[in-house]
Amino acid sequence: MRPLLATIHLAALRHNLHVARQCAPQSKIMAVVKANAYGHGLSFAAKGLVAADGFAVLGLNEALALRDEGYQQTVLLLEGVFTADELAQAANNHIALVVHSAWQLEMLEQAALSAPISIFLKVNTGMNRLGFAPADYKAVFLRMQACSNVAGITLMTHFATADEAAGISAQLAMFNDVTQGIDCPTSLANSAAILRHPVSHTDWVRPGIMLYGASPVAGIRAEQFKLEPAMTLASEIIAVQNLAPGQGLGYGQQFMAERPTRVGVVACGYADGYPRHAPTGTPVAVSGKLTRTLGRVSMDMLCVDITDMPEAEIGSPVELWGKLVSVDAVAEAAGTVGYELLCALAPRVAVQVIE
Ligand SMILES: *Cc1c(COP(=O)(O)O)cnc(C)c1O
Repeated sequence: MRPLLATIHLAALRHNLHVARQCAPQSKIMAVVKANAYGHGLSFAAKGLVAADGFAVLGLNEALALRDEGYQQTVLLLEGVFTADELAQAANNHIALVVHSAWQLEMLEQAALSAPISIFLKVNTGMNRLGFAPADYKAVFLRMQACSNVAGITLMTHFATADEAAGISAQLAMFNDVTQGIDCPTSLANSAAILRHPVSHTDWVRPGIMLYGASPVAGIRAEQFKLEPAMTLASEIIAVQNLAPGQGLGYGQQFMAERPTRVGVVACGYADGYPRHAPTGTPVAVSGKLTRTLGRVSMDMLCVDITDMPEAEIGSPVELWGKLVSVDAVAEAAGTVGYELLCALAPRVAVQVIE
């Protein structure tokens, strides 16, 4: 068997959920498990996050999978439904919906449902992606309130810069202004807002990336937020090469040895989800020791520097990311974010779940 393996740590998921709870003790937690739980596997992640008050997903299929597995919590579709048929199925299975656009409101008004639905009514306060315009929100709310297919309404928005210096104050002020006088629960905070902006901790918070132990804020390590990585991606050295000065390595010979260089060839490539843009020097751990990648990442393999690690040999364990090498550090080297690397874990990678 190819030695590449992703390990999902249930204890880390539980721990990170606990960190979210400690940050926002008054709020209910909607654990965001979209994108196959950020690559961790929906079913595995839900197990580790079972203590959450709700789960947020993108597709109805994911919501139904959670119901099939017996989860009774609130399950929320973050983009709502796309068709009238989905709306009926959502009602049958007590799935809560984001309503972000007039066409969804109309669909809801025209439906004959088996049960009324819980709605998260989204207002656009500056993200400018989904949500009703502030000027329309009150009228939309009144229509929603009058709709017999609606069980309860939570007022919701999403922050664009909770992770940046700009913060949330402008969007929060707009939200408070738009929703003034409406007596309903609210939901505002993503991970960055949970960790940095207590004022946004209202009835429901919506942590995603922090639950998986990666940082939502560039320049602040997950460790500093006391988060633990929920995924380890590990493999082994499957071949060793010795380069003489002047010899190149891999496609494009992007790495040129300047001194005698011992190279470990690792069974993990971009077809596994490792970023092809990770340059020479990206952190990696061999036998528990930090070193660097060398040359271009190939489809099925990448190379690591074991020049100063005589103990490293074929079969030596390699951590691509996990406890020793944070996914954020690999992402930073590759010019992306931990979110993308975790989500991109390829289906061909074997996954094991441990406590
Ligand atoms: C993805 C998502 C979240 C979670 O964001 P993180 O940055 O991963 O915490 C929260 N709310 C909405 C609407 C989302 O789409």
